[in-house]
Amino acid sequence: MGYALSGAIAGIRGWSMGQARDLKPPSQVSEIYGSLAFNDSVQQARLPKAVYQALRDTITKGSTLESSTADAVASALKDWAVEHGASHYTHWFQPMTGITAEKHDSFYSPTADGKSLAEFSGKELVRGEPDASSFPSGGMRSTFEARGYTAWDPTSPPWLLMNGNSATLVIPTAFVSWTGEALDKKTPLLRSMEVLSRQAVRALKLFGVPATRVTATCGPEQEYFLIDRTFYFNRPDLINAGRTLFGARPPKGQELEDQYFGAIPERVLAYMAEVETELYKVGVPIKTRHNEVAPSQYELAPIFESMNVATDHQMMTMETLKRIAPKYGLACLTHEKPFAGVNGSGKHVNWSMGDDLGNNLLNPGATPHDNMQFLFFCTAVIRAVDTFQGLLRMSIASAGNDHRLGANEAPPAILSIFLGDMLTDIFEQVEKGGAKSTKSGGLLDIGVSSMPKLPRDAGDRNRTSPFAFTGNKFEFRAVSSNQSIAYPATCLNVAVAESLDFMCGELEAAVAKGTAVADAVAGLLKTTVKKHKRIIFNGNGYSQEWQKEAAKRGLLNHKNTVDALPELVTPLVVKTFEKFKVLNERELHARYEVSVETYNKVINVEAQLMTLMANRYILPAALEYQRQVAASVAAVKQAGGVSREGKKLLARLVKLVDQFRVQTDTLEKALDHTTPSLEKHAKYMRDKVVPAMVRLRELGDQLELMIPHASWPLPTYREMLFIK
Ligand code: ADP
Ligand code: MG
Repeated sequence: MGYALSGAIAGIRGWSMGQARDLKPPSQVSEIYGSLAFNDSVQQARLPKAVYQALRDTITKGSTLESSTADAVASALKDWAVEHGASHYTHWFQPMTGITAEKHDSFYSPTADGKSLAEFSGKELVRGEPDASSFPSGGMRSTFEARGYTAWDPTSPPWLLMNGNSATLVIPTAFVSWTGEALDKKTPLLRSMEVLSRQAVRALKLFGVPATRVTATCGPEQEYFLIDRTFYFNRPDLINAGRTLFGARPPKGQELEDQYFGAIPERVLAYMAEVETELYKVGVPIKTRHNEVAPSQYELAPIFESMNVATDHQMMTMETLKRIAPKYGLACLTHEKPFAGVNGSGKHVNWSMGDDLGNNLLNPGATPHDNMQFLFFCTAVIRAVDTFQGLLRMSIASAGNDHRLGANEAPPAILSIFLGDMLTDIFEQVEKGGAKSTKSGGLLDIGVSSMPKLPRDAGDRNRTSPFAFTGNKFEFRAVSSNQSIAYPATCLNVAVAESLDFMCGELEAAVAKGTAVADAVAGLLKTTVKKHKRIIFNGNGYSQEWQKEAAKRGLLNHKNTVDALPELVTPLVVKTFEKFKVLNERELHARYEVSVETYNKVINVEAQLMTLMANRYILPAALEYQRQVAASVAAVKQAGGVSREGKKLLARLVKLVDQFRVQTDTLEKALDHTTPSLEKHAKYMRDKVVPAMVRLRELGDQLELMIPHASWPLPTYREMLFIK
């Protein structure tokens, strides 16, 4: 064996051989839940009444926070954290890298008498100043304005990061430049939620609903792989790229379909339990866990929360998944496609809107009036997804997700909406004008006096759709496992806000002319559905027919990241984001640049890793085997015989090794290239480097199948995916 399997076997044996394991008995969830979060109940218990009320107003109504309130909150927060053993605090933020960033500062400062005192002011709570120059800004920050500030987001509860011998108070923040431009993923998300709220409240007003605030809600389902950590350490590609760049398909993959919802392996279950316990403590409401479709693939999902809290909790979930894995001898892979030939991982972003009266705006109601409102919001989403297909496609584009979208497993790269038969039928009636105002009360009758509650029927699910209505929410399924949900959520919020803005404008104008609301809605829904129904597709998104049909309908089909990214800076997107003040043109271009650059960097790292693995792992093993076969053929000859099969094998091997060597060179040469513009370079990477990588992999995987297992230098798919 070319790598150290012994560690893996030792790790696994503790589980598979039934040896004593040091597991704590399960905790009482009700006791630990939220115990490390500065949540509403802690705030209520620890803050003076007036301060608590002021903070609540900021959280629920968006009112400005006075500095005296901030001081009082900071003081209570520090006391609470210090009582739990915290010595440090950090402003936690989400720069455009897509991961989180933190710099820890101590609460303590020395006093004149040689002791030290814990201090934390409102100013320190509200604003931080990390050294921002090392975070991507897409050219927005030249050195003279290198300052970046983190601003406390009071709507997301702070929590304690416990790490064995340390405890750190983590304060969720947004990250902006000194000119107030967004340098992160959180700022535009918060802005987009405000915008969506304003437009949805405006719509509700037309329906006579006295709501004052609408919150985007989200429950993200996270898929991930777990493999033994020893295998992980022996794969340079997994360590540095998060995915395998070589690896022949195992004899058994996922074709027996024996993994999905199967019994969870013992070690994995123990790991999941600890992940959940840790997440419960910091107030992340994890609800489900199960095996996913691919071998060694799993999923967990929380109960939905407000979109920005869900975003923070999602980042914490990914971090916790990775942090706990080593304790169980495991490595957690959140890459979109760690293994070729088996399913990749996604992150289904379940999305809806809830008003402050407790109603889910995408819940079909039992009365015609409720239905009218539901159909209005549903139509707004349909219009939004059709109008902003490109933006939504862009929001999930990455080098990693390129391996997944349209690869016959994940949703296709074409955006479309799955509505299910019943809702499709209703929308067909709406379009035909079946929706009419009844005499009594002027309410909308859609042809059936009351629409039955849509059943949440598993059989009604369409796994091939990138954007599906699932009973009382939409599920954006093309989102990738490795990305922050902030970006797609921001784009979706803005798209729907624009739609609501447009539709409210139409309604308000009609009502001003004296049309009854119900009639105005009926007319508007009819024209809107007619115009945007091309986005509705209930069939098989994986099929070739859909590719053709979608083209006929004029739907976008950006097959890769490089094609999709410019959708962020189209005139329509710039106009819309500027209108709603979510991102200005500069901020949008900055994001575009960061995304293109990230794509180039990812491909560059992967290609370099491939040449490294080719030259220093695979080629030496191949040459050694070639030498052995040659020696064997020579030995037979010396003994007076002829090894005909040996010679054939040798000839095949020599040819393959030569091809492999030449292709490694080709890739290396392709990488030695500079292009003056980022965009051109991205196209070069896509058109020249990526195909060279694909070809090198094919040859490498053929070699893997010829070379004896004992001398193959890398853990194989069979081992990584099936030894649990
Ligand atoms: P699935 O079969 O897709 O796994 P689930 O019932 O498990 O369906 O729900 C998936 C996710 O959708 C969960 O995280 C759940 O909390 C979330 N969800 C449910 N209702 C809403 C809503 N109104 N807004 C946002 N997310 C929601
Ligand atoms: Mg789902």
